[in-house]
Amino acid sequence: MRRPVFAANWKMNHGPTAARAFVAGFTARWSPRDDRTVLLFPPAISLTTVVHALGSREDIGVGVQNIWTDDTGAFTGESSAPMAKDAGARFVLVGHSERRHVFGETDAEAAKKCAAAARNDLTPILCVGELLAERESGATFDVVLRQLDAGLSLLDADAIASMAIAYEPVWAIGSGKTATPSDASAVHAQLRHALEKRVGAAARAIPILYGGSVNAGNATSLLSASGVDGLLVGGASLEPDTWVSICEA
Ligand code: PEP
Repeated sequence: MRRPVFAANWKMNHGPTAARAFVAGFTARWSPRDDRTVLLFPPAISLTTVVHALGSREDIGVGVQNIWTDDTGAFTGESSAPMAKDAGARFVLVGHSERRHVFGETDAEAAKKCAAAARNDLTPILCVGELLAERESGATFDVVLRQLDAGLSLLDADAIASMAIAYEPVWAIGSGKTATPSDASAVHAQLRHALEKRVGAAARAIPILYGGSVNAGNATSLLSASGVDGLLVGGASLEPDTWVSICEA
């Protein structure tokens, strides 16, 4: 059994002051549980605040929402995997739909970012998902499998076996619409099959999360869908009480 993963993507919300208040509120209400993994993805500018505020709460993992492909250099405005690691991150989101569709990130860049994460001992969570037009034209499986293949293309089998995947239909992110549990299951099954083709039985260890308008009301049904190993949550992860309810799903 894979342990369910609950990942909070704060997007561009919660600067250091709000991040500190969130951690105080969340840790006061959430005790460590060994039957689930909770991860927080603050904006980079709040990363060290979150790490310090968590103190000894090592049950709560912290990650960054993005990294650059190179480890150092003249890349104004970017943060690298070694820097994120040094600041206390253990995870990184790669290829989130907002990176792909707002900032024009390509499959090739997502692959390099996964490789940068892996060589610096950060766990990548590779995000894949189709646009509404792609779903309506029946291209969902083709799109997510292309994104998966490309994202994994620079990783060896060990690195793949220790990462995570998030299926996030683009039309469901921040829209209030979710995939049905059975639609999510169908995509997760395709992703699992593709992972097994690459790394065999080791693929069983790879959590595949669902994301897209998850909230306290729908978290339980989405999490109980076959093949859904966790939830990646944006808007509904910003407030400690709601986030506790989701982590209890
Ligand atoms: C996300 O940012 O990954 C996400 C799924 O956002 P939301 O939960 O707001 O749809």
